[in-house]
Amino acid sequence: MPSASIHVHKFGGTSLADAARIRALGTLLDDGAGSRLVVVSAMHGTTNALVELAATARNGGNWHPAWEALRQRHLQAADALGSDGPHPGGAIAGDFDVLHADAAMLATRPVDADRIEARIHGYGEVWSSRLVQAALGGDAAGWKRIDAREVLVVAAGETGVVVDWAASRERHAGWRAAHGTCNAVVTGYIASDAQGHATTLGRNGSDHSAAIFANLCDAQALTIWTDVDGVLSADPRLVAEAACLPSLSHAEANELAYFGAKVLHPQTLAPLQSRGIALRIRNTLRPHVPGTLVTAHAEPGGAPVKGLSVVRDMAVLELSGNGMAGVPGVAERLFAALHGAGVSVTMISQGSSEHSICCIVRADQAERGRAAIAAAFPPPGNGAPAQSVRATPGICVLAAVGDGMVGTPGVAARLLGGLAQARVNVRAIAQGASERNISVAVADADATRALRAAHAAFWLSPQCVSVGIIGPGQVGRALLSQLDAALPGLRSRSGLDLRIRAIGDSRRMVLSEPGMAPDTALDTLRGEGSQAADLDAFAAHVRAEHMPHALVVDCSASDAVASRYAQWLAAGIHVVTPNKHAGSGEWARYAAIRDAQRVGRSRFRYEATVGAGLPVILTLRNLLDTGDELHGIDGMLSGTLAWLFNRYDGSRPFSALVREAMDLGYTEPDPRDDLSGLDVARKLVILAREAGRELSVADVDVENLVPTGLQHVERGEFLARLDELDAPMQARLEAATAAGHGLRHLARLDRDGSASVGVVALPAEHPCRHTRLTDNLVQFRTARYARNPLVVQGPGAGPQVTAAGVFGDILACVQASRA
Ligand code: ADP
Ligand code: ASP
Ligand code: MG
Repeated sequence: MPSASIHVHKFGGTSLADAARIRALGTLLDDGAGSRLVVVSAMHGTTNALVELAATARNGGNWHPAWEALRQRHLQAADALGSDGPHPGGAIAGDFDVLHADAAMLATRPVDADRIEARIHGYGEVWSSRLVQAALGGDAAGWKRIDAREVLVVAAGETGVVVDWAASRERHAGWRAAHGTCNAVVTGYIASDAQGHATTLGRNGSDHSAAIFANLCDAQALTIWTDVDGVLSADPRLVAEAACLPSLSHAEANELAYFGAKVLHPQTLAPLQSRGIALRIRNTLRPHVPGTLVTAHAEPGGAPVKGLSVVRDMAVLELSGNGMAGVPGVAERLFAALHGAGVSVTMISQGSSEHSICCIVRADQAERGRAAIAAAFPPPGNGAPAQSVRATPGICVLAAVGDGMVGTPGVAARLLGGLAQARVNVRAIAQGASERNISVAVADADATRALRAAHAAFWLSPQCVSVGIIGPGQVGRALLSQLDAALPGLRSRSGLDLRIRAIGDSRRMVLSEPGMAPDTALDTLRGEGSQAADLDAFAAHVRAEHMPHALVVDCSASDAVASRYAQWLAAGIHVVTPNKHAGSGEWARYAAIRDAQRVGRSRFRYEATVGAGLPVILTLRNLLDTGDELHGIDGMLSGTLAWLFNRYDGSRPFSALVREAMDLGYTEPDPRDDLSGLDVARKLVILAREAGRELSVADVDVENLVPTGLQHVERGEFLARLDELDAPMQARLEAATAAGHGLRHLARLDRDGSASVGVVALPAEHPCRHTRLTDNLVQFRTARYARNPLVVQGPGAGPQVTAAGVFGDILACVQASRA
């Protein structure tokens, strides 16, 4: 039978968790022509237990309970599997006696302790191979067992084991000569060294074993069966949205494995590559899923970046100094020193100024590397500048991998942009000449956030945004219902995943993980799971380390909340609000908020503070950003006052209209809050500041429509005496009408910086005379719109339109991050 028809299957520990899983494994092996080789890991958790058992024995501790637990587990599995076929229990019990002897020996601190320890680490594969062989029917069913210690010969190398191919090939041929072409179960992970002592291929090494056996028998294919659907675009434990990659080239799989994708041991690809053996990674629990096919060449087209991975526990070594520029051989000396000290280098970066070289090494080798470099660059002693070497631990390397990067511009920009938006500081960056991999070194504490941000930046998953909502009053409630309706579409169409992770009012709050459904968030806040409000804890939860983007929506009318904005913005939390306090309050606080945005690279958006959902601030900002010059603003900025003056034609007294507006819910509970003009003045200040004017409410000339005698009385008394408003207003209306004008309530900002709010008489052709109901209207007079001002008009009040303005700002904050 031609050897090319051998198919190698490898089963990881999770696929061998118990007897039931082991029994099911036979159904996964294709039974076409040719023979099969089944390479097995130890049962799930066994290697960890053995590593610990050996360490305990070596330290003189009590290893017996661990030994007994392992023995029970394996003998029970043997009983379960051996009930209707060959029983592996006897052989396994014998293996446990050997382990017992080894552990006892280790406790006596023998000189060859390392060797015994290595031998102990590998027993799990011996046991599991016996169980699997029995489950497949044993010898009688044509299933032999290969103890890889009798076939594979390896030596320890710098970056993992080095296979002695000649010796291994010879032994494999010997085994085949003795047994012929047959099905066999093979122990993964273990091998022998040149002296014949048992050793291992390093943790997670069964994938490598399988690839070596596939090479030795020139297999037609290798299938690695595991507990995920295949190679995913990122570690699913860190990025829940990671997606299974249907295909990868050998080179891509290699880079991902090297940079930490645990699903494949980094040495797996090389033995397959040299023989062009196809590899498929599949899920034991979901065999109907095709998994990931890894072949010699990438499929043309497709995304430039396929996957991302991170290597943790790294350190930066940096050699810097003026004396290095242009001096030949510095890099050579540095890497020779590291090589000499047995330190392997994961990533190198050197700026073109040549003032420093930095490389990334494993944290546990950093100090050794630093000392070696320091020794290789002694102080020159002739007054020339000395070089300094620094080791910084707490680093991880994030790698973006894909054959499609070759020749695709903008990949690095997208990666770095995504990281910057997530406030991840990049310590070093390197791109391999193959252009198949861009790696960045970032703080280890940022690992998850960086990975998620990069994953979203390449559209491999939706952009995940952590949202906290404060003060869910009417506007907040409307916002939640709009979010509820829009979130599914935002996810699928725009790749945005807004997660409501916190909600709170002045008394209570709920912090949630992974997030609350918008339609039940309020019930959750009112329910028993809420806790006492604490704005610091609230913000800290929203700005979680693992979430790339964070945003607080302040729907309260609280000045105390507004006082937190600067702090939040500086910490990288976007702030969106319809609350006017920050925009119109104390100038120093406003200036601090502006500065904090720069520091935190965050955004402060408040469109809904003026004209609710109308694009008033957006329009002004666009005019100024495109170089127009603002001459002035005239605006009807209060829906209540607009309604009153639209209706006020003298046919009914002004006070009657105020009463009607109250009944319709158009006014504040105390209508003096509208009539005082103060709220309009606040909006005018917000607009003026947007235009770069240092204006405060105190600088605005505000006309209070409430006569002085009524300004400070109780609300009840005020309402009782409401008709005192009528006579003065009547007089103004008559004067205006006589001149052919009508009354409107207007906010005005003039070119000279003066600002006023009050009732004015306007001619019939003025746009403000043509508004409806509670419409707001804002006129921008600018250099470009000099003769005919630019007008923004429409409903400027009400929870739904205000919430829409807030929602628009949320999207503006986070979508700018996706550019
Ligand atoms: P096995 O026991 O089958 O060898 P491992 O635990 O060694 O399984 O490897 C599979 C695990 O690797 C997955 O459960 C997953 O948590 C992790 N993993 C890390 N990165 C990736 C990735 N990019 N794609 C798939 N799995 C990954
Ligand atoms: N059983 C070994 C380990 O846990 C090898 C493997 O699972 O690949 O590291
Ligand atoms: Mg593994």
